[in-house]
Amino acid sequence: MAAPPPQSLLLTFEDARRAVEDHASRVSPGANETVDLLHAAGRVFAEPLAADRDIPPFPRSTRDGYAVRAADLAKLPAKLTVIGEIKAGPPPGKVLTLNRGEAFSIMTGAPVPPGADAVVMIEYTSLQNDCVEITKAVAPGENIVAQGAEAKRGSLVLDRGTRLNEAAIALAASVGKSRLQVFIRPRVAVLTTGDEIVDVDAEIGPTQIRNSNSYSLAAQVQEAGGEPVLLPVAPDEPRRLRELIEQGLQADLLLMTGGVSMGRYDLVEQVLAEMQAEFFFTGAKIQPGRPVVFGRIPSCSCGAGAPAREVFAPVLHKYFFGLPGNPVSTMVTFELFARPLIEALSGMSPRPLVFLHARLKSEIRVKPGLKRFLPATLSGQYENSQVELVPWQGSGDIAARSRSNCLVVIPPDREHILAGEWVAVMPR
Ligand code: AMP
Ligand code: MG
Repeated sequence: MAAPPPQSLLLTFEDARRAVEDHASRVSPGANETVDLLHAAGRVFAEPLAADRDIPPFPRSTRDGYAVRAADLAKLPAKLTVIGEIKAGPPPGKVLTLNRGEAFSIMTGAPVPPGADAVVMIEYTSLQNDCVEITKAVAPGENIVAQGAEAKRGSLVLDRGTRLNEAAIALAASVGKSRLQVFIRPRVAVLTTGDEIVDVDAEIGPTQIRNSNSYSLAAQVQEAGGEPVLLPVAPDEPRRLRELIEQGLQADLLLMTGGVSMGRYDLVEQVLAEMQAEFFFTGAKIQPGRPVVFGRIPSCSCGAGAPAREVFAPVLHKYFFGLPGNPVSTMVTFELFARPLIEALSGMSPRPLVFLHARLKSEIRVKPGLKRFLPATLSGQYENSQVELVPWQGSGDIAARSRSNCLVVIPPDREHILAGEWVAVMPR
């Protein structure tokens, strides 16, 4: 007997996003693997990283100039005897101690000698034979980074859950880690539905549509830290659709596109309901992307898949999203809702969704009631950011979306926004 389609659970954008974030906080990543530094960019760090020695390992001069005792510069100009030179990476050995009235010529990155407590920039000095004349006083500590000021030996410098960017990779290199433990990428199944959808390379009939969603989603999944697994296109036919959903549930997360609107052949929710799915929302008050669906399904209905990796719930589940089939809706709802779950499954610590702000170049008029994420172009320069909607034919218009470089976010209570107003922008 066919299960009834689930009750409509239409949430505001914020409530829907909260539901996803809440569930994302309960999933855990898979096993670890080792990667070398050159292949670590974008991966998620799986072990806490500690400093193997103080950073910096010695009091480091931040300038080319003279290492001095600040007290010797009480009266200006001051004349000090230059007793030697210290370059970055001096050979090991005994370093002379600086006494009253003396200075060392010193280079950026070199260890400040004992006895010195400041560095005077070379610009304020002139060398005459073995004496240096200094015309500017310095405070104790000036132009020196104290030993261990950036991190003490043994202290945590990078936590697990950090997505490795260039700074984190530099930090790992600086503490001597050439191979890093990272979480394996979660496998994300991508299932597109629709009788009209054909593969990119297939011969195409006049009313058929090439499958673009599987490929845009694969790109977004990769960018979010997941490994996409593309399934064959599902027809609008419940038996085959269920078979493919079961296959998809063997991955760590299932993304479906199409078949979630109100049409007679939109079967995704019905088939999921027959599989005992639990729905957290079946729509969000947004445009594009209103019919977006989020839920989970008990593992026992998932065929022969690996168990879901949820921490607290006694029953193991697999999460799924039903994203609307219109290509721009698919892309936008992925960003708004699917990304945080993939990031969580990849081991990444949660991060808030934040919008930037830019001045609107031309006015916008919309019907109120939905939070809108409309394709737009961010332009201007430096602090003068400007944004303008891209003309589009609605949520199927991939060409308009590809001309855009951001989404303008319009709150549901606004119908007329004037040129020159500040608006929220999601760069993408
Ligand atoms: P649906 O959500 O199934 O009602 O589909 C909405 C619109 O998106 C229809 O015009 C579909 O032809 C189109 N569509 C659905 N899936 C895809 C896909 N994988 N690639 C490109 N367009 C699609
Ligand atoms: Mg369809």
